[in-house]
Formats: sequence, structure tokens, C-alpha cells
Amino acid sequence: MTKKYDYLLLRFGEVSLKGRNRARFEKAAVEHVRALIRPYPDVKVRREFGRIYVDPGSQQVETLIPILTNVFGMNSLSPVRAVQPELGEIVRASEELIEAMELKKETTFKTNVRRVWKGFPHSSQESNPLVATPLLKRFPLLKVNVRDPEFELRVEIRDNIAYIYGEVIPGVGGFPLGTNGKALLLLSGGIDSPVAGWSALRRGLEVECIHFHSYPFTSDKAKEKVIDLAQGLAEYAGKIKLHIVPFTEVQTAFTQMGQDNLMITLMRRAMLRISTKVAEREKALALITGESLGQVASQTLSSMNVIERATELPILRPLVMTDKDEIIRLSRQIGTYETSILPYEDCCTLFIPKSPTTNPNLRIVNKVESVMPTLEQLIQEAADGTETIELFAGGSVKRREEEDAKAEIKQEWF
Ligand code: ATP
Ligand code: MG
Repeated sequence: MTKKYDYLLLRFGEVSLKGRNRARFEKAAVEHVRALIRPYPDVKVRREFGRIYVDPGSQQVETLIPILTNVFGMNSLSPVRAVQPELGEIVRASEELIEAMELKKETTFKTNVRRVWKGFPHSSQESNPLVATPLLKRFPLLKVNVRDPEFELRVEIRDNIAYIYGEVIPGVGGFPLGTNGKALLLLSGGIDSPVAGWSALRRGLEVECIHFHSYPFTSDKAKEKVIDLAQGLAEYAGKIKLHIVPFTEVQTAFTQMGQDNLMITLMRRAMLRISTKVAEREKALALITGESLGQVASQTLSSMNVIERATELPILRPLVMTDKDEIIRLSRQIGTYETSILPYEDCCTLFIPKSPTTNPNLRIVNKVESVMPTLEQLIQEAADGTETIELFAGGSVKRREEEDAKAEIKQEWF
């Protein structure tokens, strides 16, 4: 198949790229692009005049578009043709580009030629009709509308190259990855926390994940599910670190306290304490949860209040005001929904009492914790016993291949 396009052009928001942060933001965006295209070693990235150009190498540009629309901080992207800065070449490439659009009905357009290289013999003004006239002749369905065209054919003439493009595809926006610092996401097996993680990534945070696992109360399947969800986030972030905390001892210690209706409050506070230790170790400056106001007993204002006093780190709750319908929509959009709804038990669901309090009393909670002499030690041991794994973009494919390979070996044996 011949290549229709030569490059992908990525554009960034005016706001995020202004001022002193510009170089830092651009560099972060380039790094993010590199991480996302890791599975394609011959794809190349170049930074030029505040934009990023991606050379697809042996890939079709179309393969890379759905991957690169996920570059955070990016407003839009366009597949572009690149030719010699010469009128005949520019017209020919423009014709091919419109040819590829396979126009079926009358379509309004305008040309927008920008001459940056003054060595090109025609000014920007003069160039517009020079490019448009042959196109109008060749494609009878094209009609000029300079005010509100259905598409704009843009030509940018530089000293050794001319870029031509028509299609503008929206990007996800936000801030370039990691430019707002690092935070630790409490990742459960549910629908909400992966969405919260994606929102945080999109807002320019570097995200590490922490998960509390209560083996054997929760199965290996539950752990696998969380690894899959973190892998889902790695497809957006390029790379994700996942810390898995052995939570069984802490949890069983609480069950012996005879405070069933405070169980969730106590567990959540312990989770925050352990998360705070891991965050300090990993130099993360905030915790992130998937909490949404009023969703369950532990997410009332008074529960949140008592729970969050267990940490001095700020807790970011990207979904706190978001309705469940919208969270589900986002979860489908980012591709974590199908994994999230798998039935494997989370450590909290197992210990949910019949009537968890929606209004815990901080004084009582403090009292219960203070009569547990080993609590601090159990929390430290859980933090120390944390297992860390790293997941990379494209890894789900690799994992699947490894599983297939294992299945094949089994077939040989039986
Ligand atoms: P989710 O769908 O994210 O599980 P949820 O609506 O089920 O959320 P809860 O189970 O009350 O709500 O959990 C609230 C938040 O606490 C989660 O969004 C997550 O950030 C954190 N959390 C809960 N359980 C765990 C766990 N086992 N490991 C890590 N974080 C957890
Ligand atoms: Mg949950």
C-alpha cells in the first residue's frame, strides 16, 4: 500500500504552551509520544516551532491516529503531506489529498496558504488562488466558501519543505503528561478509580497506583484484574508503576475489634496511612481516589471528613461531583469498563457490614485505633511488604502473547 500521508502533526493548546513552561511542556509531550509509540520502533518524533511531527516509518498514519489522539495536552492532530516548496508539487499533493477524501456531495472549502519562507516566489495572498484554481477545475464538487467552509486546505511553506493538510482531528486536551507533578492513585477493582486515574493523567499528573489485596480472602483473579486495569492506564501513560499491598493482617486486626459498622472507616484510614508511606517513598505529593460524593456510605461528606484525617497529604478526587452514568461513559471510552465489571471480589466488599455508618464519629474512631497497640506496626509491615510491578504501553498485547504461548505449550503436553 502506498502511503497517503507523510507525517502526523500534533498541535498543543495555546495556554499550556505559553511562557516559561513552554520548553518543559513540549519536552514532556515528546516524551509521552515516544512512550506511546514504543511498540513501533521505526516511528520517529521531531519537535519543530512548538509542534510535534511524527514520521510513521513503516506504519500507516491511520494506525497511529487512535494512539496519538491520547497525547495529553494536545488540542488536535492532522495527517499531513510533505513536498518540495514548489507550486506544482504543492498543487499535485493537494489534489491527491482531496482525491483521498472521495467527495460524494458538494463540499465547501477554502485554501489557507502561509508563506514562512520568503524565498517562495508568491506571497501568502497570491498563493491562495494559485492553489485553489486548479483544484476547483479538477473537482467539480468543490465550492469556495471563505467564511464558513466545511474544510480548510492548509499549506505551510517553509524553506525546504511544504506541509499540506485538510483534516483536523480533536485531541484529548489537558496538560502534557507529568507536568503537574506526581500523585498516588488508590486503584481498586471497581469502575471509578481507573477513570479517576485517567482524569489525573490527562490533567498532567504522573500517576503511580496502589492496590490493597487481602489474600486469601480475595483471589489471585482479583489481583490479575487490578493488574489489567493498571495496564489499561499504562496504555495512556506509556508506563505505570503498581504497588500491591498485602492488607490481610491489617484487615483481620480490625475484624477483631467488634466495631462492625466502623469497619469501612477504619479500613479506609489504614489504606490512607499505608498509601501515605508509599507516597513519601515514591516522592508523590498527593493521593487520588475514585470517590464520588454520596455514592456509598464511606463517601458521604462526614465519612470523607473522618477518613481523610488519617493523612496529611491532599486527597484529589477527580470524580467527586460526577454522576455514575457519566463515570460509566468515561470508563467505556477509556476501555476499562469491561474489566471493571468482572465479578472478582475486592477486599472491601468482603468486609462490608450490614449497616456501615454514614456518619462516623472521629472521637470513637480515634479511640478504637488507639487501643490497637499493634496497628502502627501492622501498617508499617504492610507498607514494607509491598510488591511493585511496572507496566508499559503495548504490554497488554505482550501479556496476551505470553498467555497464548503458555496455552500452546500446554497443548503439546496433553
Ligand atoms: P471504585 O469503583 O473505584 O472501586 P467504589 O464506588 O466501589 O469505587 P469504594 O469501594 O467505596 O467505591 O472505594 C472508594 C475508593 O477507595 C476507590 O475509588 C479507590 O480509590 C479506593 N479503594 C477502595 N478499595 C481499594 C483497594 N482495595 N485498593 C486500593 N484502593 C481502593
Ligand atoms: Mg470499589
